[in-house]
Amino acid sequence: MYNLILFGPPGSGKGTQSELLIKQYGFKHLSTGDLLRKEMKEGTPLGMQAKGLIAEGKLVPDEVVIGMIRSAVEAHPDVPGFLFDGFPRTIAQAEALDALLAEKDAAINNVLFLKVNQEELIKRLIGRAETSGRLDDADPEVQRKRQEVYTNETLPVAAHYAKAGIVKDIDGEGSIDDIFNRLAAAIGSLG
Ligand code: ATP
Ligand code: MG
Repeated sequence: MYNLILFGPPGSGKGTQSELLIKQYGFKHLSTGDLLRKEMKEGTPLGMQAKGLIAEGKLVPDEVVIGMIRSAVEAHPDVPGFLFDGFPRTIAQAEALDALLAEKDAAINNVLFLKVNQEELIKRLIGRAETSGRLDDADPEVQRKRQEVYTNETLPVAAHYAKAGIVKDIDGEGSIDDIFNRLAAAIGSLG
């Protein structure tokens, strides 16, 4: 199994690039943001619990997302690998993921870190708010909160995997195709 984390701040293009990467490589795409939005749409108890937190730009509790990821991983025993998008977002989530994969004699093989400057991130989120209908894109104050949560809680996840020497920085600015080609080149040379 070859398991990849696509890492980066809100608006860095993880969802967009994930779609292209799964087509090319056959990964199973696991996005906790997408899984949570599905729960909200269906109005499940979990979705209802998550809704208020997401609307405020806060994180959903670790146990909740770790449980979702465990179920999703166990539901797909025969895939060539997983592409994790928007997860892990805290050190506790990273440690739980490492333990879960170790149970399957697997591990995270690479972390590709999409680098995008702050100004461009804000521009993209404002643009996305027009069409996404997402509660957490529309409000600048919520966007600011998400960036703050990212810096405080999520950035340390990159340092966690950097200790294993598996993090590769990718320039996340430019056209969607150019960025995809950089990711593919990194997977080609590291995988
Ligand atoms: P991108 O724009 O790069 O796709 P994003 O930050 O805009 O990323 P999602 O990954 O879709 O958006 O997450 C949206 C919200 O869902 C987060 O702000 C958070 O409230 C919740 N969420 C998603 N994944 C997690 C997670 N792993 N742990 C806790 N909360 C999460
Ligand atoms: Mg996303």
